[in-house]
Amino acid sequence: MELVRLQKYIADCGVASRRKAEELIKQARVKVNGTVVTEMGIKVSDADLVEVDGKIIKPENKKVYILLNKPPGYVTTVKDQFGRPTVIDLLKGVKERVFPVGRLDYETTGLLILTNDGDFAYRMTHPKHKVEKTYLATIAGIPTGEEISRFEKGLRIEDYITAPAKFKIVAKNKQNCVAEITIHEGRNRQVRKMCEAIGHPVLSLKRISIGKLSIGNLAEGDWRELTQDEVKSLL
Ligand code: URA
Repeated sequence: MELVRLQKYIADCGVASRRKAEELIKQARVKVNGTVVTEMGIKVSDADLVEVDGKIIKPENKKVYILLNKPPGYVTTVKDQFGRPTVIDLLKGVKERVFPVGRLDYETTGLLILTNDGDFAYRMTHPKHKVEKTYLATIAGIPTGEEISRFEKGLRIEDYITAPAKFKIVAKNKQNCVAEITIHEGRNRQVRKMCEAIGHPVLSLKRISIGKLSIGNLAEGDWRELTQDEVKSLL
């Protein structure tokens, strides 16, 4: 019987991404054969009884990949401690337990993938794989060439410097403009902070693509399953 690391086993059960599973373990929310486990190295198989928050979990066989056009006013988590609506509330008819791949802010709209495939989620979100994410951002004012070049080269945000990014103005009027922005990192509120850093705060933000996958004409709040070819194109 195959032995896998506990965090991978939890992800394969569709409970959370591998990284989130590590947090669950650290928070002492995981038991193996009745004993709380807080260290990371241990390996388990289907023969072990694994519980998360007191519920027994089992690996799911069918992998599902959902593309959702997230509306504003939803949190990108499975549960919200403040009782706000979550993106899972929008997935009526999906039987498998899926979780979001990465995050969009409460007010950000657009392309969000949800899955029960922990390996896929890891591949999509780990910075070493440099998966490109493209956004349409309506921002205050019109940035100068010099500001755009600072944005593209990399900016200091708090304690880190952003990796090279793309920035292209696609529409403008006297007060503001719409920029197509591509980054391959996924730090908290990164696009908002980068725009703020060049003096042009974001007024609205929508993710339009991840890798080769784009949102197409899916209406806000709607979802569909990805085709096998689409999943392959992302890996
Ligand atoms: N960057 C942000 O600032 N917000 C998002 O929701 C996604 C990327």
